[in-house]
Amino acid sequence: MSKFVYLFKEGNASMRNLLGGKGANLAEMTGLGLPVPRGFTVTTEACIQYYNDGQTISKEIEDQIYEALAKTEEIVGKRFGDPSNPFLVSVRSGARASMPGMMDTILNLGLSDTVVEGLAKLTSNERFAYDSYRRFIQMFSDVVMEVEKTKFDAILDAVKEENGAKLDTDLTADNLKEVVKRYKVLYKEEKGFDFPQDPRIQLMEAVKAVFRSWDNPRAIVYRRLNDIPGDWGTAVNIQEMVYGNMGDDSGTGVAFTRNPSTGEKKLYGEFLMNAQGEDVVAGIRTPNHIDKMNEINPAAYQQFVQIADTLEKHYKDMQDLEFTIEKGKLFILQTRNGKRTANAALNVAVDLVAEGMATKEEAILKVDPKQLDSLLHPSFDGEALKKASPIAKGLPASPGAATGKVFFKAEDAVKARNSGEKKVVLVRLETSAEDIEGMDAAEGILTGRGGMTSHAAVVARGMGTCCVAGCNEIKINEDEKYFIDRNGKKYVEGDWISLDGSTGNVYSGQIPTVDAEMTGNFATFMGWADEIRTLKVRANADSPRDARQALAFGAEGIGLCRTEHMFFEADRILAFRKMIVSETVEQRKKALEGILPMQRNDFEGLFTEMKGHPVTIRLLDPPLHEFLPQDEADINALAKELKISSDELKTIIKSLHELNPMMGHRGCRLAVSYPEIAEMQTRAIIEAAINVNKKGMTVVPEIMIPLVCEIKEVKFVKDIIVRTADAIIAEAGVKLDYMVGTMIEIPRAALLADEIATEAEFFSFGTNDLTQMTYGLSRDDAGRILDDYYRVKIFESDPTAKIDQAGVGKLMKIAVEGGKATRPNIKLGICGEHGGDPTSVEFCHEIGLNYVSCSPFRVPIARLAAAQAVIKSK
Ligand code: ADP
Ligand code: MG
Ligand code: MG
Repeated sequence: MSKFVYLFKEGNASMRNLLGGKGANLAEMTGLGLPVPRGFTVTTEACIQYYNDGQTISKEIEDQIYEALAKTEEIVGKRFGDPSNPFLVSVRSGARASMPGMMDTILNLGLSDTVVEGLAKLTSNERFAYDSYRRFIQMFSDVVMEVEKTKFDAILDAVKEENGAKLDTDLTADNLKEVVKRYKVLYKEEKGFDFPQDPRIQLMEAVKAVFRSWDNPRAIVYRRLNDIPGDWGTAVNIQEMVYGNMGDDSGTGVAFTRNPSTGEKKLYGEFLMNAQGEDVVAGIRTPNHIDKMNEINPAAYQQFVQIADTLEKHYKDMQDLEFTIEKGKLFILQTRNGKRTANAALNVAVDLVAEGMATKEEAILKVDPKQLDSLLHPSFDGEALKKASPIAKGLPASPGAATGKVFFKAEDAVKARNSGEKKVVLVRLETSAEDIEGMDAAEGILTGRGGMTSHAAVVARGMGTCCVAGCNEIKINEDEKYFIDRNGKKYVEGDWISLDGSTGNVYSGQIPTVDAEMTGNFATFMGWADEIRTLKVRANADSPRDARQALAFGAEGIGLCRTEHMFFEADRILAFRKMIVSETVEQRKKALEGILPMQRNDFEGLFTEMKGHPVTIRLLDPPLHEFLPQDEADINALAKELKISSDELKTIIKSLHELNPMMGHRGCRLAVSYPEIAEMQTRAIIEAAINVNKKGMTVVPEIMIPLVCEIKEVKFVKDIIVRTADAIIAEAGVKLDYMVGTMIEIPRAALLADEIATEAEFFSFGTNDLTQMTYGLSRDDAGRILDDYYRVKIFESDPTAKIDQAGVGKLMKIAVEGGKATRPNIKLGICGEHGGDPTSVEFCHEIGLNYVSCSPFRVPIARLAAAQAVIKSK
């Protein structure tokens, strides 16, 4: 018999996979002797079992739940469903990884028409009893029975209005009884049967609902965005209720042991008196600053401060705590490592080392590499910002700068983004879990309500997205899609605004931004990462500007320079097009002669900028027709330049059309058909290196042949390169080292890497193409296909977003082995987009690559991921 249920006192923090994060920490805190309401955890394995059993709870699991319930009743000294001394519980989900707001909690479970009366009598507090009951009916109906929460809110608002109550706390016991009455009528109307009165049925239905919620659409989207596997399941915690809504000597709150925006070592949080559960974060009343608790209940405050400190030292990390005060007595309901902004994460990591609470290695593991992204992007230009005057001010909920067009619905933001709108700002009254995709699509988020711990604030900080929350100076009309600023000006969908998530200011229009800098704790922390990592990090850069950015972010070379990108500029595209449409070798050579000086100049710029760091240059790669003019005006212009008719040119363009260009006439195949292109590019590279070296540098260019699949083809192209290069070097009478290598991006090349290494002096995995060709799935068409695959759960997330270790990774390993067998010192790298993805970087470290190369903005991410790979593999 497997054990599916653990009392809190039976578990501990190391049992996270089984008990979920919340359950494991409740158990750990229980073990530490902290004031945690008693309870038990139904394991994640029980959740998996529930799905395996066709979404039913087996007799075995049910029995174990009732057994644990009986034991808990015994300890607490109250009984489920007993009106004279009722036991009430909360039913709380908790997966291995925290999924904020993804799965809902039910409070006060166990109440019924008779029990509520008993509770009123027992506590001599009728108002409290009915306040608890109305909350329970709403939560149970919403979470378990899928009756919309807003329908209950409407009733509550109506009763408030009828009785002139402004806040929930203004409602009397009689008012709340009326609320309960109407809630039950609503429930019966919606469901066709009465609200369940048997607490055991309530309990089992609630447990099932938590299990079910693991697979609700918003949980699935959240998992996709956060790389959480669908087969982890969620645990369920069943816990004795403690009551923050018993009057003015009771309350509930949340607090971080350090400031989650800045990392400052100072308790940071909010609380509300006479409130329960999510009241603080739901923004229904304005919460108090945690410091104020010291005035209201100094004893509980001191105790809380001490517990916060104990927990921080125990977990060696900043904690995020939930607490409740029942009639002056403090209870701790949750602790976890607090989510924080990237800036706070770095400051906390560096501080923890200084405080002797963590080693450098431990500190390195505390920062999620992906989070750094938010520090690497531009912030507002200081001068421009001084001139701008805010149109409103809200709370600085998540730092950063955003400028974009406003949208008022999550789905509109997503739609705009998908149709190519790069800068979107989502404006909402408040956000909820349904808005996640829209929030992800947005550069910035602006809400009209809610505090620093509101949904929008917490989620935005987690995503590293700029957010201004609780901006009640603006009037938002979501339905009619506009908002009015504090001066009365109206903004409609598509209008530009700018948000400063560090000050809370909102501006009209676009404000220019400036690039990020790596200084202070950021620099210190990255220095530690560099001491630890063994994998080198290069950047993909095509221009001196990219190269400068890459160096500033710590790149140690260029792993990929795409020569074709140099030709898209307006003054060059014509020369390049002439080359493409040439019909004879002579014509092409002539056109190439026009291109040579430009290309040589580009390389000189790049080499100069890189100051002797290695630079890998890839020969022309894309299908030529990508460069051809599409619209009439461009075609006419080119025809005129070529002195041919537009119709003739159109015929040429048509002849270059390919049915499947991804697998078409591109890469080294171009060099096979048109050796003069490879000759010109080699000349440009070698001459540039010679020129730059004359000025005292020692550039060793790495010339890379793309899209190879066959050793004879490698040899053919390499011969062109070597012949050309050696002739130029001899003629110049200088000494110049250069290398010739290949991309590995066709599965056949990976399989035959041992042969290819007889010619190639280095390999660079082009994992974009390698992934597409291994899956036989084109990225350009994958979207629609993947939607269906997600729906039927063949895939949970885009399988091409990271290196697919099972398939693509296997090919990479074969290629590494083959390459090393032939050429033990072969240089190995990766230059696909995956080079900046943390788990892919870890994989590259494991299989023994020498470097990863990624976009300049991802270089720090890769540096950190490479350091983490070393620590994790120890
Ligand atoms: P989430 O994971 O969304 O934070 P929780 O399970 O932590 O959900 O609970 C939601 C709210 O209810 C929190 O404020 C929590 O402190 C409160 N809560 C949960 N269980 C209890 C309980 N047994 N007694 C009092 N409050 C509780
Ligand atoms: Mg919680
Ligand atoms: Mg490629």
